[in-house]
Amino acid sequence: MRVTTAFNRMLGLPGAWVREVAFGEQAVIVTVVLRVKKPVCSGCGARGLKVKEHRIKPWRHLDLGGLRCRIECRLRRLYCPGCGDVYEMVPWARAGSPYTRDFEDLSAWLAQQMNQTQVTKLMRIGWESVGKILERVVADYLDEGRLDGLRFIGVDEVSYGADHKFLTCVANHETGGIVWATEGRNAASLKAFFDGLTDEQKASIKAISIDMSAGYEKAITEAIPDAEIAFDPFHVIQLGAKACDRVRRDEYNRHGRSSSSEGKWIKGTRYSLLKDTTKQTTRQLLKLAEVVLTNKRMYRAFLLYGELRYLYKVPKHEAAERLEAWLSWASRSRLKPFVKLARTIRKHKAGVLAAVELNLSNGRLEALNSKARLISHRAYGFHSADALIAMIYLCCAGIQIALPHR
Ligand SMILES: [Zn+2]
Repeated sequence: MRVTTAFNRMLGLPGAWVREVAFGEQAVIVTVVLRVKKPVCSGCGARGLKVKEHRIKPWRHLDLGGLRCRIECRLRRLYCPGCGDVYEMVPWARAGSPYTRDFEDLSAWLAQQMNQTQVTKLMRIGWESVGKILERVVADYLDEGRLDGLRFIGVDEVSYGADHKFLTCVANHETGGIVWATEGRNAASLKAFFDGLTDEQKASIKAISIDMSAGYEKAITEAIPDAEIAFDPFHVIQLGAKACDRVRRDEYNRHGRSSSSEGKWIKGTRYSLLKDTTKQTTRQLLKLAEVVLTNKRMYRAFLLYGELRYLYKVPKHEAAERLEAWLSWASRSRLKPFVKLARTIRKHKAGVLAAVELNLSNGRLEALNSKARLISHRAYGFHSADALIAMIYLCCAGIQIALPHR
């Protein structure tokens, strides 16, 4: 068998045939010829454009054994009124990419499974290249219809980078997928989401769950005043945990901190107060029993926090009454952090109950939240928000990448 024939079979590049194969020191260079007769703009697909010149363009393809594989092809440079100076379209690579589609798809598939550092090592490319590949693959695979017919959505922020930058993510409660993400975490970030929707898409949204403390509320009431606002249970519970821990820290400070044995003991009660009792170790439970016997303020904080969590487990019709009871208990608790929290929740009561009523389950959002956070961790090397957003779409928007040659 001739070498070119062998490479034709091995590479399986669509729309091309192999003319020549050369072995360099670092790479196998495969020169191919494009089968298409009439050139098509790689940017927009326009035909009948003026050919300006011919140039050889290289692409990195999947490695052949230990060797890198470079595809080279003589292409026509075109002038497109819409896209400017561009190469003609080739079926084996995305527009503007120095990699073949197979190479990019494999990289993106790996990025879904593993840490980015491993992807860079395995594929022998840099961080920045992975980021750009992901952006192209996501733009290609992301379902354009994902913004149609949304009914219940959740908006949340995800922090990334060492200097605490933020992304705003919009999730579809019914599918559990992230449908949109952008930089920032204020009303303007969310406004950009609504601005991108058609009137029909906006009209289908019935309810939106958000974090009580973030500035998203304004953007919602301005864009879709008819949508119901629900306050995400996950964040409400988190506020309860914070109040409970504040009470413990106040007690710690009051009891001479780590200089007294009591202060030291208080320091060690953290998990007994915050962790679900069914998940506590025997030691933690024993400590909790000590709290019950010796520190009324901390015990009260523990009970208040537990009751707040319980609000999301009772039958819907009991929720309003229970919340009312919790609010008056917390306001009278003489624990400053809970008095303050009761004031905040009272102000947002309708939204807290809406979340219970609509059953915008925190489980799903919580899972998505931690997944997005994990991704931003795994992708710590991404300095650009666009690459991270691509990564979040890739892993949380239900994108399924077909592996090359499978
Ligand atoms: Zn064009």
